[in-house]
Amino acid sequence: LPELPEVETVCRGLNKLTLGIKIQGGEVLLPRTLAYPVSSQDFLQEIQNRKIDSWSRRGKYLLAHFQDCDACLGVHLRMSGQLLWLSQDINLHKHTRIRLFFANNQELRFVDTRTFGKIWWVKGQETDAVITGLQKLGPEPFSPEFSEDYLAQKLEKSNRCIKTLLLDQGLVAGIGNIYADEALFKSGIHPTAIASSLNLKEISGLRTAIITILEKAIASGGTTFSDFLNIMGVNGNYGGVAWVYGRKGKPCRVCETPIEKLKINGRSSHFCPNCQFPR
Ligand SMILES: [Zn+2]
Repeated sequence: LPELPEVETVCRGLNKLTLGIKIQGGEVLLPRTLAYPVSSQDFLQEIQNRKIDSWSRRGKYLLAHFQDCDACLGVHLRMSGQLLWLSQDINLHKHTRIRLFFANNQELRFVDTRTFGKIWWVKGQETDAVITGLQKLGPEPFSPEFSEDYLAQKLEKSNRCIKTLLLDQGLVAGIGNIYADEALFKSGIHPTAIASSLNLKEISGLRTAIITILEKAIASGGTTFSDFLNIMGVNGNYGGVAWVYGRKGKPCRVCETPIEKLKINGRSSHFCPNCQFPR
């Protein structure tokens, strides 16, 4: 699934390619992809003749802001959503859900096999009131709010497994299964460790690991663990350097103990039983 580094990669691509070009129209092939407004007709009418001023990312949400208008286009890729920037002549992919046609004969195409992805058009209202998932997001991992103090306070109060807590978007925005496993390995913390049992040194190490692993993945253009593609349809290259994710049975890159896999709250967790000592 796309996580923060993948969504950030998409966001940077969109900022490079889609700004200031008039949107001439669009097509909604799967109406339920449109979370708001409900009517495809309203959406297509509203988006017509707009120009995107910038894109931003919040957690795993993409937000397009428009020139001369307070509207916002929200996108969440969920399990398998992809935004592709391509010529309008390119044959439609089987799972194309929404298309936006730009004046330079290019289009922004939303392709989504599993159909969990969502698109919102918000105008004249608070974005958070319509895209309610935004209200629940914790701080961005690169923001000053995601401090050691903040993390220590949150962990101290939780009796959940650290792995489960890291996936909670209310703790820190944008982390999913892949980067949670990688950060726990880098900080030597077992995924089943109870959050409140971590000491300050471990918490500090975990925070640093989260930040550096996400930065590295963004610098490599996202991951290849899933079938992630950037908006030009190109795969990232973080895959070759994963510490534990997707490496069950393979030797740990530090101590050569075989990597193990465990289900925690329904999510697969990869870890080294030697480097990440259970407690
Ligand atoms: Zn190891």
